[in-house]
Amino acid sequence: MKELSLIIPCYNESSPLRDTFFQLQKVLSSETIKKKYSSKMIFVNDGSTDNTLEIIQEIANENSNVKFISFSRNFGKEAAMLAGLKYSNGDITIIIDADLQHPPHLILDMIKYYEEGYDQVIAKRSRRGENIARKWTTRFYYQIINKLIDVELVDGIGDFRLLSRDAVDSLLAMPEYNRFSKGLFSWIGFKKKIIDYENQERVSGESKWGFSSLLNYAIDGMTSFNSKPLRLLIYLGVIITILNLIYIGYTFFNILAFGIDTPGYFTLISSILLLGGIQLISIGILGEYVGRIFYEVKQRPYYIIKDTNIKSESIQLREKNER
Ligand code: UDP
Ligand code: MG
Repeated sequence: MKELSLIIPCYNESSPLRDTFFQLQKVLSSETIKKKYSSKMIFVNDGSTDNTLEIIQEIANENSNVKFISFSRNFGKEAAMLAGLKYSNGDITIIIDADLQHPPHLILDMIKYYEEGYDQVIAKRSRRGENIARKWTTRFYYQIINKLIDVELVDGIGDFRLLSRDAVDSLLAMPEYNRFSKGLFSWIGFKKKIIDYENQERVSGESKWGFSSLLNYAIDGMTSFNSKPLRLLIYLGVIITILNLIYIGYTFFNILAFGIDTPGYFTLISSILLLGGIQLISIGILGEYVGRIFYEVKQRPYYIIKDTNIKSESIQLREKNER
């Protein structure tokens, strides 16, 4: 019998959580799955401040196939997914949100494709029901980011996916501290299948993504995959220097031919402002990379586990093997 693990990252999800559990349990106990797979759910409580942990513990007490890992504080969804991946030792791992925006019945389709030989089965959502601003920012985001990074990111594809053992092992083999999963999933390759679903509105609780977190995510996406932004800066610098030289030459000959007329306040101030801006951006981008190096060299753990019902020996053993 093969093993199937669901990873469910949870941050302040007390309102939809029970419902999520019931729906997932229903799918897992369907005949198609029960026949061939022994399954478990791994809830990762990412430092929730509401009673998410209590609810998870109650569910775990009543259901032996429910495991949980609880962090000492909020470490972010990336860390929560990583923890789940580490402790999902099955043949198939599926990552799914706790807010029911990822329809659980798709799990059945995912498994069907897995059995056909796909290593990653990815759910792609339509953007129905999202407001214009959000649609527009995401579209812009993907256009920019796909120009900047080497791996391809597709709009509507998130973390809702099935991963084979090989895919999970490859993800775990990448020890970087700044994890940009969308990029990592794409980077590891393997045989992929995309299945579509209609976008679901959140039934309860609220999204943890504001505008500023989306912006930060965009910067993470760009800078954690390669150094193209640095290369761009060099090009920008070269272009600006050439333009400057042309302008200086032009002014110089003008002065030789006609003498100095009104001091060019406009050109002076505009060039200072322009260059000032470019320099600030450049320093910012450099700083971004230096900051990343800083985090990587410190080799801090990705998260701290405060509470879990997964056997402690197996956790310690695994953690020792890491890093
Ligand atoms: N999440 C998490 N840690 C965080 C933020 C979110 O584990 O710091 C979880 C959250 O509980 C949910 C999933 O990640 O299961 C997606 O979050 P959310 O629904 O807020 O994002 P959206 O669906 O709006 O992209
Ligand atoms: Mg959501």
